[in-house]
Amino acid sequence: MECIFCKIADRKMPAKIIYDKNGVIAFHDIAPQAPTHVVVIPKKHIATLNDLTGEDVEVAGRLVLAAKELAAQLGLADQGYRLVLNCNNDGGQTVFHIHCHVLGGRRMMWPPG
Ligand code: 5GP
Ligand code: ZN
Repeated sequence: MECIFCKIADRKMPAKIIYDKNGVIAFHDIAPQAPTHVVVIPKKHIATLNDLTGEDVEVAGRLVLAAKELAAQLGLADQGYRLVLNCNNDGGQTVFHIHCHVLGGRRMMWPPG
């Protein structure tokens, strides 16, 4: 198994896991891009957003709901935060297991880089 996020989900690789519910886990990003930067992933291995199918409606929904829940848990909800899902090269995806970044604790720029 090559996927590092599958390894983290299987607890075969260390990570600061802060959430594990409904087939979704979240952990602190190893290279934070904001004062708070958490990565939320489904336990199911799906390589990119392009690979999502109708069968993954629940997975996708759980992912976004978990991100929202985490934002509140981390104290970001009122001030605001950003959710990011990168896809493939131009999207800046570097780990090919879908994930949602939760970024907060500072004002985000728009347009994004
Ligand atoms: P992407 O660039 O694919 O959207 O996001 C991948 C994210 O995973 C990056 O922000 C990167 O810092 C993070 N990351 C990569 N490898 C690891 C790791 O081994 N542990 C943790 N906690 N985060 C990682
Ligand atoms: Zn994976």
